[in-house]
Formats: sequence, structure tokens, C-alpha cells
Amino acid sequence: MSNPATPFEIARDTLKQLAQRRIAPTPDNYQTLYHEIAGTKPVSKDFPEKHLRTLSGALPKSSPDQMRLARQLDEAVKAEDWDAYQKHLTTFINGLIESQKLAWGELIGDLLRQWETKHAGVTSARKRESLEHVLNGSANNPDNLFSRLQSLMRSWGQGREGERPTENTSEEEIAAPATAAVTGSNDPALLAELRELFAFTLETAIATQLIESPQLAQDAKQLASHIRRARKSDELKEFLSHLKRFAFKLELLAEDQQELRKSLLGLLRLLVENMTELVIDDRWLHGQIEVVRDIIEKPLSQRAIDDAERRLKEVLFKQSQLKAGLFETREAIKQMLTGFVDHLADFADATSDYHDKIERYADKISAADNITELENVIDEVMRETRSIQTNAQRSRDELRLTQEKVKASEARIRELEMELEKTSDLVRHDQLTGVLNRHGLEEMFDKEVARALRHDTVLCVALLDIDNFKKLNDSLGHDAGDQALIHLASVCRETLRPQDTIARFGGEEFVILLPETQIADATHVLVRLQRELTKRFFLHDNEKVLITFSAGVTQMTERDNQASVIKRADEAMYKAKQTGKNRVETVMENA
Ligand code: GH3
Ligand code: MG
Ligand code: MG
Repeated sequence: MSNPATPFEIARDTLKQLAQRRIAPTPDNYQTLYHEIAGTKPVSKDFPEKHLRTLSGALPKSSPDQMRLARQLDEAVKAEDWDAYQKHLTTFINGLIESQKLAWGELIGDLLRQWETKHAGVTSARKRESLEHVLNGSANNPDNLFSRLQSLMRSWGQGREGERPTENTSEEEIAAPATAAVTGSNDPALLAELRELFAFTLETAIATQLIESPQLAQDAKQLASHIRRARKSDELKEFLSHLKRFAFKLELLAEDQQELRKSLLGLLRLLVENMTELVIDDRWLHGQIEVVRDIIEKPLSQRAIDDAERRLKEVLFKQSQLKAGLFETREAIKQMLTGFVDHLADFADATSDYHDKIERYADKISAADNITELENVIDEVMRETRSIQTNAQRSRDELRLTQEKVKASEARIRELEMELEKTSDLVRHDQLTGVLNRHGLEEMFDKEVARALRHDTVLCVALLDIDNFKKLNDSLGHDAGDQALIHLASVCRETLRPQDTIARFGGEEFVILLPETQIADATHVLVRLQRELTKRFFLHDNEKVLITFSAGVTQMTERDNQASVIKRADEAMYKAKQTGKNRVETVMENA
């Protein structure tokens, strides 16, 4: 038989063979022969692939053995090989049963033997204490318990049988078995280092975290000097009992702090909810509040808290300013209206009085017998009419003035808002896009630089500029341009990590700070952002509009300041523009 390569050739050969071998052309026979010719395995329709995959997916994978089993089962499922699946599973289970049976039996025997044997420096009390410690620490994890008991036995076994510590026993000999349960070593240099590290951790890492619990911080410091001094077995024992008490208090404190955090968050949430009720019309305030709400719903980080705090301050500040402005204006309008209504009432009184008088004059006129009487009445009528006219004129002027004042007050509120946005030192976010403005960027930059220095990490800076934005404005209108900026900012926010900073640097330019990021990764992030923008179209009047940008990426060095690093990123961005746009250029210092 030749070697058929394509399914078509295999199928043709299969039919040929069926005829030549005079085999009945049933589907099963065709399938068997097909696989024989193709050299493949027939697919069993009975193979419960889905269920077996679910089963192997649900098995634990925390030890190398378990991971190996999962891989073997996966392979068996892929090959639809039930026999292999069964074999791997039974081998594993049998192995497990055997090893557990044997090993536990041996271990318990060993434990009994070691318990009764005398070891140098390991008193019965210490044995009991270390055994209790291991049992308490691993009660819920048999694997862990098994290996910890094994190393405990090893550490006891390292003491010399039948020897008891004498008055002159060296410091190392006494101290070693006490810590050997942990280290499995008698090396004095190592023990000294461990002791110092322990003290250092207590003093520096733990005590400094306990600023709000001065007593516990003091305890940590005392424990540190205690472990530095402790040499003899009973000193170490005393230290251990103090340490246990300290650990217990720490645990309580952690619970309290957890509770406190929960209540604080609840309080903040309540505050934010109430603010939403208070500010009904201001879109910017709503946006800010949404961001704060979003931040407190997510897992907390220092950066997120800083950001929430800044935004809340802005909201509160702006709200108080607007409230004062609105209050003043409302009072002014109220006073004007009161005055006007008073005049109107006078006017109404005057006119109704006038009508009464006119009626009376009409009577007088019809009753008048001579011209002098009539002249007198007409004089009176003229006087009354003139006074009514003056009154009407005054009210009209008053009304016009009130209208003007209301208009001026409205304009003042608008002005106040604008002024607030422009001049306030507190406002750190761009009103249009919600990302940081230049002021906010400066502040964040300082923080990130300090953080990078403190942790000795790399800070990268990117500057991006939208391509052909003027054309977009010209063809779709300025409002669409604004919406495109909002779209870009939100894609940035969703694509970048929470710890990255996004700021609007100028019209259609944005600066991104990428902490703890190597330059190659930073470049990659910007390229990913470009890809994301091509996937998430900006919709204008239901039409997809593609926005692209050019970017420059650089890394901050010790010699840089904010201006120099942004300038370098800007130059790289310019290069990206010159070499065709929609590109990311990377530049290192002095490149
Ligand atoms: P290039 O690809 O070289 O960057 O070209 P460009 O058209 O994007 O760059 P140019 O600097 O010539 O134009 C930027 C435009 O961005 C000009 C300005 O009208 C517009 N712009 C700046 N700020 C805003 C804004 O807040 N909203 C809108 N809609 N447009 C803005
Ligand atoms: Mg520009
Ligand atoms: Mg541009």
C-alpha cells in the first residue's frame, strides 16, 4: 500500500481496500479501515471526554505528585485513552494509600523512640513544647504535619544521646537545639545571624508598623532586646512565652484594625451617597463622586486612597464655594423680588384707589353745575393720573433692573465655576476627561519619584499626542473632539494598571507615569494601548471613528527632573510623528 497523505487519498484507499478485502462496507468497517490506513486511533463515541476533563480539572494540584497526575490525566483525555486514564488514577491512589500507611506508621514509631531517648540540650519540656507547636501549626494539613514532624525528629536526633548540658555547656550548644527545630542546623554563625535578624524584624519591621499602638510597639522593642540577650535555655523559654503573648495581642490588633477599616469604608460610602443626593446638576461633581465610589469599592491600596482623598477634597471644596455663591445670589434675588413686589402692591393699591377716585370724579362731573366746578375736578383727575403714571414708570424700571440683576447673578455663578476650575490650587483633575491635570500630575510625579527612590525601582514616563486631531475637530466638530478625548482617557484608565498615572498635559497630549516598570515593558504597555484603541472604536453619531496616537517613552534617571524627563519623552514622541505617526518611540537618557 502506498502512503496516502491527504484525507481524500486515505478515503479513496479505504474504499479500495474494502472492495479488495471483500469487507462489508458498513460505517464501522469503514471507520476501522480508515484509521488503519491513516495510522490514527479510532475515536470512541463512548469516551466521556467532558466529564473526565471536569474531574481532572477539579483535582488538587498543590504538590508535584498531584500536578504530575493532573498532567497525565489531561494527556489521557486528549488521546481519549480510557485505559491510560484509569491506570494513572489507580496508580496514584494506590501510591497514596501505601505511602501514607507506611510513612505514618514509621513516623509515629520514630516519634516514640525519639521521645524516650535523651538528647543533648533537648529537655522533655522542650520536646513537648516543640511538638505542640508543630501539631497546632499544621493540624489541618496532614502533608505539612508529616514533613514538619519529620524535620522535628531530625532535629532531636541531631542532639547527642545520653548527654546532659553541664554548667560549662557553650552558648551554641544550648541555643542550637531550641532553634534547630526550625533551622535543622547547629551552625553558631547562622544562629547568631538568625537571632539578629529576628531582633531586627521585631524592632524595625514590626515596631514601626505599630505607631497607633505604642504599648505593642514598646513590647516589640523589648522582645528584640530580649532575643539579643537570651543565651541560656530558660532565657529562650521565657522569650518564647513572651513572644507567644505578643503574637496573640498582634492577632487581636489585626482583627480590630480590620473592623475599623470596614467601618471607615462604610462611613465614606455613606458620605459619598449623600453627596450624590446633594449635587443634582453638576456633571463634573457627579463624575468625581463616581470615581471616588469606584475607588472605594475596589481592593484598597495606598495610591487608591490618595486618589480618593484628593478627589473628595476637590468635591468638598468646589461644593462649598458653589454653595456660598448660590446662597449669596439667591439672597440677592430674594431681596430684589421683595422690593419689586412691594412696589407692585403700592402700584395696585394706587390704581384701585385711582379707579375709585375716577368713579367719584365722574359722579362729580355729571353733577357739576358750572365750569369752575368742572375745572377743579379735571385738575384733581390730572394730578391723580400723573401720580399713577409716575408709579407705573417706577415699577417698569424696577422690573427691568430686577431682570438685569438676575441675569448678572446667573452669569456670576457660571463665572465662579469657571474661575474655580481655573485658579483653584485644590483642583487636580481635568474637567473634561477626569484624569489628572497638570497640577495634579506635578504632585503625583513628586510622589512617584520619591516612591521609586525609596524602593529603588524604575519609573517610566510616556507622552502621547493624538494623531491628526485638528482634522477630526474640523470634520466632526469640536464637541466630537471633546468626546474623543474623553474616550481616549477612559480607554487609558481601563487598560493601564491602577498604579499608573494618567494626566492631560495639554490639548490632546497626555502624560502617563508607569511605576516599577522597565522601559521595554513600558513601551509594550503603550503599544497595547494603541491596539486597545483600534479595538474600541470611538462612536460618533453611530459611526466608528478610529483614533490613533504617537508616543514617546523614556525612563527616569537620578539626573532627571520632571521637566527634563517629559522633554525627552516629548522629543521621542515628535520622532514618532515624523516617522509616520501611530507609533511608539523609546528613548534612554543621552541616547
Ligand atoms: P499631529 O498628528 O501632528 O499631532 O496633528 P494634530 O492635528 O493632532 O496636531 P495640532 O497640534 O496641529 O492640533 C491639535 C488640535 O487639538 C488643535 C486644537 O484645536 C485641538 N484641541 C486642543 N484641545 C482641545 C480640546 O479640549 N477639545 C477639542 N475638541 N480640541 C482640542
Ligand atoms: Mg499636540
Ligand atoms: Mg496631535
